[in-house]
This record gives sequence, C-alpha cells and structure tokens, in this order.
Amino acid sequence: MSLVQNLIKRQKENGGFLSAEVLQEISERTATPLYRLQELISFYNSFRLTPPPKVEVQVCRDFTCHMHKSQELIQDLKNEFAEEIEQGQVSISGKSCMGYCDGPVAVSLNHHITPDSNLSHCVTSIRSILKSGTTHGKPVDQEIPDDWDIDCYQKQTKYELLKQFLKATDRIAFGESVLKSLEDSSLVGKGGPGARTAKKWRTVKKYAEQENRAVRYVVCNADESEPGTFKDRELLLRSPHLVLEGMITAALIIGAERAYIYIRHEYESQIEAFQKCIDDAKAQGLCGRNLLKTGLNCEVEVFVSPGNYICGEQTAMIEAMEDKRAQPRQRPPDLEIQGYRNFPTLVNNVETFAWVPAIFNNGPEWYQKLGVNDCQGKRFVSLSGDINRPGVYEVPLGSTVGDLLEIVGGMRNKQQLQAFGVSGPSGGFLPRKFSRDQLPENFVKENIPEGENEFDLLNLPLDNNFFRFQLRGRFNLGAAHLFIGEQTDLVSLVKSCTEFYRNESCGKCVPCRLGSEKLVQIASRPLNEGKLQIPDYFQDLIELMQESSICGLGQVAFNPLLSLKEFFPETWEVAKSR
Ligand code: SF4
Repeated sequence: MSLVQNLIKRQKENGGFLSAEVLQEISERTATPLYRLQELISFYNSFRLTPPPKVEVQVCRDFTCHMHKSQELIQDLKNEFAEEIEQGQVSISGKSCMGYCDGPVAVSLNHHITPDSNLSHCVTSIRSILKSGTTHGKPVDQEIPDDWDIDCYQKQTKYELLKQFLKATDRIAFGESVLKSLEDSSLVGKGGPGARTAKKWRTVKKYAEQENRAVRYVVCNADESEPGTFKDRELLLRSPHLVLEGMITAALIIGAERAYIYIRHEYESQIEAFQKCIDDAKAQGLCGRNLLKTGLNCEVEVFVSPGNYICGEQTAMIEAMEDKRAQPRQRPPDLEIQGYRNFPTLVNNVETFAWVPAIFNNGPEWYQKLGVNDCQGKRFVSLSGDINRPGVYEVPLGSTVGDLLEIVGGMRNKQQLQAFGVSGPSGGFLPRKFSRDQLPENFVKENIPEGENEFDLLNLPLDNNFFRFQLRGRFNLGAAHLFIGEQTDLVSLVKSCTEFYRNESCGKCVPCRLGSEKLVQIASRPLNEGKLQIPDYFQDLIELMQESSICGLGQVAFNPLLSLKEFFPETWEVAKSR
C-alpha cells in the first residue's frame, strides 16, 4: 500500500487525525523518515495532526454554492454555534468545491456530504451529532435520468467487449479492431484538452514496444474537481462496470498488467461502488490474474485522493500516486512515455473509458451520428446555477446553450439569463448577447447575418468549432456549464473564482503563486460607483501567468476576470495603479 493510502487509512482508524504515535508507527513500519511524512501531511488538505472537534462542518464556498449564498450559511452557522466553537466542540469552515453543485449549498458534516443543507437542517443535524456522537453518512441521491446511450448493456454487467477480447484467437488483431473503432468514431478525451483517444492509446503501446518497456500502466482520472463539475460522479455511481471494462480493455491493448482509478475522497459512495464492481468482475474471472484462464493479468486498484484540486491535473495526480506532493511536472516527457514510476502510462478520464464498450458494440458510425449541428458523438455535462433542474445530462455534441436551457426546464424563478459559465471558472463567463466587436471577425462572418448587430448566446453550439475562433483570452470548452441569472452579483462571483485558484495553487511556480493572489486583490478592490477597478497592468499580469506557469491552473486563473473585462464592460473601469 502506498504511503499516502497508508496515511489515509491510519487517520481514519485513529479517530480522524494522525497522532505523533501513529506517525512514528508508520515511519518505522515503512522505513520512511518523519520529515517525508510531514512533507505529505502539510500539503494535502485531508490530513490533520490534532484531534478533530466533535462536529467538523465544511461548507463549499465556490461557484454554484457561492451563487446559493454559501458565505451567508457559513456566517449564520458560526453565529448559531458560537459557544460550541469557543469550547472546541464544533468547527465551521469554507472548503473548495466538493462535486455536489446540483443541490443546494454543499455541506459536509464530519466528512459526509449532507443532502439537506439549508440552515435549519444543518443546525438540527449538528445538534443531533453533538448529542448522540454519531454521524449518519446519508448518501446524496440526486434524481438523475440514466437511460443513457452510453449504457449499451442497459444496466447489466455483461462485459461483452472484454469477453470477446479474451476469447479471440488473434488478440492483437482484435485489439487493433478496437483501436480502429475508436479512431473512426473520433472519440476524444472527455476530461481535459480533448486528445484523440485512439492516438493516445497507440502512443503508449508503440513507445513501450519500441523501447522494450515491459511495465506499463493504465490510470483512470476520477478526480474531477473543477467547480461546477460532477458528471463523473454519476457515471461512477451508476455505471462503474462501463468504466472498468474500458480500463481493462485499454490495459490489454497496451500490454499493461495493472490499472488504477484515482477517485476524489469526497466521493464515498462512488469509491464503494467501484470497489464492488472490481470484486464482482474478479469473481467472474474478468479482473485480476489469469483472466478467463488466458494467462493474461489485469489487477485494478482504487487510489483514494488525499485531496486538493491540483490532483486532477494528470501529472500532479501521478506525483500523488508516487507518494509525493501533487505538484505538476514539467513536460515533456509526457506521461505516455514516462508516467507512473517512470513507466509508460495511459491516463484517461472516467467518461472516456466508459464510452469504449458502447462504441465498439454499436459501431463508430452509431456514435458519430449521436451529434448534432455537424458535430459527432455525445458527452456528459454538469449543468448548474439558476436553473430549474440542475444535474448530469448526456447530450449530443453540438447542442446549443438554448438546447441545454430547455433540457433543464429553463431559468429558476423566471429570471433572465445574465451570463453563462462555459467550463467551470476556468472557462470564464459569456454574456447573453454578444456585439459584433466582441467576437472574432471570422465568427461574425459565418454567424451574424448582414444588418444584424448581435449574436444570441442561446444559439451558440457547444462544440470546439466555436472555440477554434480563439476568443480573446483562452476560453476552453468543458463539461461544467453554469447558468447565471440576472439576480446574481457577477463581480462577487468572479471574486470567489479568483479566490478558488489562489487557494488551490500548488505554489510550485512563482507567477501562479503570486499572480493568483494579485488577481484576488484586483477582484477585491472597493468598487467605484458599482464598478470594479481593473489596473492597467492587468494585461501584463495575464501574459506573465500565461507564458510562465507550469500547468493549466496558472494559465487560466485570470479567465473569470478577463471575461468580465471582455464581455461585461458595465462592470469595470481602468484604474491607474502603477
Ligand atoms: S501553475 Fe500554479 S498550480 Fe500549476 S504548477 Fe505552477 S504553481 Fe502549481
């Protein structure tokens, strides 16, 4: 067991903290100096060295929860439990996004997410824990329709692709047919920059074979932590077998005998569901050693994340798995060449693996035809904000913002749509109407008829075709979409986004470490007649962060502020500040 997993396990067994005795015991048992343990404990936010209070309350302060007034909830709870806080029985603090953005404010009580998080429910639950001393971990079960196209087995665990693979007389040819199918479908990664899936698998296979590297790994990144993102949570809970089948298929194709799934620790039910899925597959001879008596092996292991947003960055995730601080690596070399423990490693996201069985079983043309507006395929999106039915939806690629708004039953309380979050905070915010001069010339030419001066956001298809037009700044298309109503204070929301990045910067590179704090200072300036004062060095700061930050966090942390500057001129003015 890795050191990080050891610390998580022992902390749990020791009543929620790592005492000096426990650390000494781990140090001796694993022959690890204490300073190495301290290096990890001081970095990851789920470890603590002192006994926790009777009730530890953590309230999400980001994005959708910020819109739902989480700061007020924190303050109200602090007022309500002032005496208990003073006595050390209760602690109440803010926390980064926990992946439950489709409910009311996400609140964790003694590390269990509670579904009833309004003030009176929280007060009742906290008082009950204080009295009884026990926390009932009640899983949040959102009402989410799951008659998904991705589920080619209609909720059964058939593993047909895997069985065919293992029974094939020529497995190399069979693996090639799977790769061809993925290639023809144009499946791209569903967790980040959208790399072509088949190409990535081929790169690992080719490099490992060329260089004669016998050890290879598959890692599934299930650490979705971008505020507003919670789609993998539902896939892991409802269809873990699809993810597992995709992972084992990938392992067999690239020649890996071991695969890991790295899951954020807040996803308790998902960790349990996936472990059960592994156990069931093992019982069927489809996971572990000597798969269906073929002599082939594929052990699959769950790695529980010790916390921190940056672990979702794939190189940082690998560092965490290697018992180091999760600080992103400089690239090249890429993980396909030098990944986990320096061996060739294939990393894909939960949804990417989950599409593999359906695409192979139904054919690549089937997948391609699922798209609309000249786009191919489907994807899962997390929809939240001021809407009637927030949740996880499987939607055709190329759907417009208007299509999504229809799916979720429109805006809540008949509000008008003020702005749209394209991809968590990292995507910045788009306005309801674009004027011609806010859009790139080539986009205007193709999309705004002569004589018209505006483009309606609702007509915007969510596919990379729009984003190829390179809006000023780097606005990426992701799967976390936020609908912001007219009653939301956009400037305050942007401030909370910059705070999120400042809080989650791993500190490895100076432009991000200091730049993210500078962004918070800008977003926190006192308003001048209701307007934010953006200093004239803002553009220089952006360029510095963009050009010299090691990973995506530092390269996008300014996007929320930049989008205000680009698309909401009524919210800011330039302040001379040199
Ligand atoms: S950009 Fe920020 S988060 Fe990324 S490595 Fe640098 S300091 Fe860490």
